[in-house]
Amino acid sequence: MGGPGAPIFGLPSSLGFGKDMNIAVSKPPLTIRLCGPRGFCAGVDRAIQIVVLALKSYGAPVYVRHEIVHNRYVVEGLEAKGAIFVEELGEIPPEHRKQPVVFSAHGVPKSVPEDADSRNLFYLDATCPLVSKVHKQAMRHNRLGRHVVLIGHAGHPEVIGTMGQLPEGTVSLVETIDDVDAYVPVDPDNLGYVTQTTLSVDDTAGVIARLQQRFPNLTAPAADSICYATTNRQEVVKQAAPGCDLFIIVGAPNSSNSKRLVEVALRAGAKQSVLVQRAAEIDWDNIGAIATVGLSAGASAPEVIVNEIIEAFRLRYDAKVELAETVKETENFLVNRELREVELTTADMAFVNGE
Ligand code: SF4
Repeated sequence: MGGPGAPIFGLPSSLGFGKDMNIAVSKPPLTIRLCGPRGFCAGVDRAIQIVVLALKSYGAPVYVRHEIVHNRYVVEGLEAKGAIFVEELGEIPPEHRKQPVVFSAHGVPKSVPEDADSRNLFYLDATCPLVSKVHKQAMRHNRLGRHVVLIGHAGHPEVIGTMGQLPEGTVSLVETIDDVDAYVPVDPDNLGYVTQTTLSVDDTAGVIARLQQRFPNLTAPAADSICYATTNRQEVVKQAAPGCDLFIIVGAPNSSNSKRLVEVALRAGAKQSVLVQRAAEIDWDNIGAIATVGLSAGASAPEVIVNEIIEAFRLRYDAKVELAETVKETENFLVNRELREVELTTADMAFVNGE
């Protein structure tokens, strides 16, 4: 991964600009500033691949504990292929005990694989390797006798998973600077922090600065916990937002990294920003006078929806697409060992990536 730099504005060859030649002159002109990187990160891509490959290798049903990634479209696409989503392992019927159950990309508390073992379930862990890295850093603080301060959103599955790596009472959760101010640790000189991977880079820097100010002996993790994908998606939105009349982020309302992109777009100067799951959610009747629209997608939002939104604009506007790109991502995480010999074809992933 290279560091984000100034965006390059250009025309992506894959979007078929020649089609614009036939658009009726009565349509108002529009520039769509399409962010890159956007959409699926390596961890989400891997988690979806794990379910798809498990279905190919073991046949349906494959159980998935919790939404594999926070996106309804992805979940429904996998259900159509034979995945069954459950919230708890107890929902898996005894006759399907030999079918795999996949743990989501957000990670799970240690109690979950323990529960799976006690039920003799066969599980495949799709926890993103970068979330596992945060788990390891939290465990390291704990091993070295430090109380762990986790910066994250209460109730988010990743936070539940990270807290669940350590014994109860050894992790404290803070979300805001106010939380830091109200925090009273038992031993202020023996603290180590980690963060959720999908937080706002700027807000988190403020929370860390306040922690360091209040607790000068606070130990940082060995590496940044906010992941490359979160950082890159926020950076390109920040650079593309100035001058946008509207900034559309494709993502689910329970997707932390997608919600952060809406906030980043507004702070960086977009006049409005909305989070949508499908083109039909855009309030077309009240969109107002727009000349430039920013478009990006959270790490769990599929590219087919980005294309659907571009096509929806093309129906209504004489739309020209400019690519705003800050960095090219090359990260790719290997699937579980049990699945590496199973062939993954473009057609297998077309439901999210398009043809
Ligand atoms: S957003 Fe980051 S931590 Fe989360 S799945 Fe993607 S790469 Fe992994």
